[in-house]
Amino acid sequence: MAQLSDDCFAFGGVLLSVDDALARIEERVTAVVETETTPLRSACGRILARDLVAAMNLPPHANSAVDGYAFAHADLVPGQETVLPVSGRAAAGHPLGHSAEQGTAVRIFTGAPMPEGTDTVMMQEDCVVEGERVRLKPGIRKGANRRHAGEDVAESAIALLAGRRLSPADLGLAAALGYCELPVFRRLRVALLSTGDEVRNPGTSLPPGMIYDANRFMLAALLGGLGCEVSDFGVRPDREAALADTLSEASSGHDLIVTSGGVSTGEEDHVKPAIERLGRLHFWRLAIKPGRPVALGQIGAVPLIGLPGNPVAALVTFVVVARPLILKLAGAAASAPRLFPVRAGFAYRKKPGRREYVRASLQREGGDLVAVKYARDGAGILSSITRSEGLVIVGEETSELVPGMSVDFLPYAEVIA
Ligand code: AMP
Ligand code: MG
Repeated sequence: MAQLSDDCFAFGGVLLSVDDALARIEERVTAVVETETTPLRSACGRILARDLVAAMNLPPHANSAVDGYAFAHADLVPGQETVLPVSGRAAAGHPLGHSAEQGTAVRIFTGAPMPEGTDTVMMQEDCVVEGERVRLKPGIRKGANRRHAGEDVAESAIALLAGRRLSPADLGLAAALGYCELPVFRRLRVALLSTGDEVRNPGTSLPPGMIYDANRFMLAALLGGLGCEVSDFGVRPDREAALADTLSEASSGHDLIVTSGGVSTGEEDHVKPAIERLGRLHFWRLAIKPGRPVALGQIGAVPLIGLPGNPVAALVTFVVVARPLILKLAGAAASAPRLFPVRAGFAYRKKPGRREYVRASLQREGGDLVAVKYARDGAGILSSITRSEGLVIVGEETSELVPGMSVDFLPYAEVIA
């Protein structure tokens, strides 16, 4: 189950661009391949392991899109009203059961199969019933209000492509095609831990100088949203040996290890040496803000992503780097989130050469959506994420934004389930 080939992330020590990091992930990470069958009701968010081919037409039979009267268009008198005798009735679940008599209309209801010999339906609001006959308005087009068999999905067509993260509508489609279970890739097993001598569990007392663990709860939820099964390894101290023990334990039975904190190069940052001791470190100092220290390594064949400790940086780097890695590992097809062009509602200066993610919310101004920057932008200000709607992406080459410029906006909703 080699998910990460050796040396794939080695580079010369300069800041790696986000795109280079993503290209390496795309190139080198291979998916977990074990599949399992899951009932539809638990398939939402899972990744489809094989193309789903329609074994039948959807809809299975031609049917009426409205309540009204079905007839053969050829029986209409061109340019005038037509009066036809009503010769039968077809309702959803109650087909007419035989061909319609020529020169007659059939009372029909939404979803009822189109009787043989009819091709058009006039909605009841446009019809006048006269005893056993119906008066039809002129001008209706042949085939109006008729749904063809297979017009949604034709038999033998691919209804859903392998690698898709199944949405509620996908499950509806699979059910409509008669499937009650689907082949999916098994869930990724992810080991998650926080690092830091200062980091304590919420619900316990907080001695002076300590903080509560924000990251592990945020990251567990982010991982869960991507369909991962999370093993909680708690908070580990800033000691290389203790970290190495935990990482070594976590590398068995898991597909990925996610840590936060301790990935810089300070004296109290022990994740890097622990990985080096146990496995390989393809250390990234990513050209990204917030979040420059992001480590990618491997212990045996198990990839490890070390996110920065500052909660905002942890979240941004999770979304930008860990998410694509996880989706690739999990067998998902193309994972790049959609970016939406909006107008910058603020001025901004930055150093060229790195990509910056600026917390912002959208406001409608005339016909435009304008991104308004959240006032506080420290990497530790987690409330800035809960009070904003997404990230304005300021590219490497840009050194200045002026109000009114077009910028790419990544809504949190695109990347956070
Ligand atoms: P580090 O990346 O370990 O240098 O940590 C950077 C900052 O993030 C420090 O202020 C840490 O106290 C803080 N931090 C680290 N881990 C967590 C965590 N799990 N929850 C909240 N803050 C954290
Ligand atoms: Mg630390």
